[in-house]
Amino acid sequence: MFHSARLKLTAWYLLIIMFISITFSMVIYRVLMGEVIRFEKAQRFRIEKRIETGDLFPVDTRSFHLQIPIPENTELIDEIRRRIIFLLTLVNGGILIVSGILGYALAGRTLKPIREMVKEQNRFISDASHELKTPLTSLKSAFEVYLRNSRPTMKEAKTLIRESIGEVDKLQSLSESLLQLAQYQNSQKQLYIEKLSLTTLLQEAIRKVRLVAQKKSIVIEKNIQDVEIEANKYSLVDLFVILLDNAIKYSPDKSRLIINTQKTDGSILVSVKDHGIGISKKDLPSIFERFYRADSARSKSESNGYGLGLAIAQKIVANHKGSIRAESILGKGSTFSVRLPLKQSSFS
Ligand code: ADP
Repeated sequence: MFHSARLKLTAWYLLIIMFISITFSMVIYRVLMGEVIRFEKAQRFRIEKRIETGDLFPVDTRSFHLQIPIPENTELIDEIRRRIIFLLTLVNGGILIVSGILGYALAGRTLKPIREMVKEQNRFISDASHELKTPLTSLKSAFEVYLRNSRPTMKEAKTLIRESIGEVDKLQSLSESLLQLAQYQNSQKQLYIEKLSLTTLLQEAIRKVRLVAQKKSIVIEKNIQDVEIEANKYSLVDLFVILLDNAIKYSPDKSRLIINTQKTDGSILVSVKDHGIGISKKDLPSIFERFYRADSARSKSESNGYGLGLAIAQKIVANHKGSIRAESILGKGSTFSVRLPLKQSSFS
């Protein structure tokens, strides 16, 4: 598909270049031929004048040598015409070959980002369908087993419903994450930016994860500097919820999370530190990739996730022209730090 698109694009480039080149060649041909004819006429006129004035031949012998007016030198003009046409054809042939090669290379370069985007989309679709398939398959097999049972008890029916709700919850959370990712991925969409209090934003995020933290008796410590930040409220709340939710998910019961902020020139650094399972050096570079989950996270049965949270977080940070990084020691804990510009001018 891309090869034929590349050839088509090259053909278009060639068509445009050759149209311009041939048009120019025709103009050059007309101008040059006009000049040649004008020059030849002027030369003839000059010679006639010199003959008339006897400058070229003695007056009594001139009639034996030349007639006046001197006829047009058509042979010379035709020869010059042929040479001009030959040279212009040669130049156009050269342009055709060079622009063909350059056009093909340029078409390849033009199509490269589109090709990568399509590849990325395909990978995304296959990853997403794979993730969707797992809960669906498990739902289907649970129903089939239940149907095979000729006398199901009430207890069995309730267990089936409970398990099915669990799988439906997973599907719901996956589709929400996919929607969120698609929404933040659309960088063309202009974010509504407003002046916000960082404390309010962080408090809102903490409120959203409070229940899960309480379930694990995790304490959230805050060391927050209240600064005014120009940002999109919902995106930033989503961002901090993702970081806090991960910190809780990958930490043992009764542990501590620390939220720190540090204001520097024109930006604010927000970090979320946990004392959880940590991330290995091998996994650390890949955790922001879509659907990536470290082995340590996969093996934790309670921590259901799809590896989309940090990819969403990264998109939100990028939409705010900020940066995000992770530091971690396996078995000791992780720190996720987000740097965001404070002023709207940085959003342009
Ligand atoms: P998930 O839904 O799996 O949590 P994320 O994209 O949020 O997806 O995170 C990707 C992976 O990064 C996780 O599966 C986990 O391996 C690792 N990770 C993220 N945050 C933490 C953390 N605070 N502690 C340990 N590992 C983490």
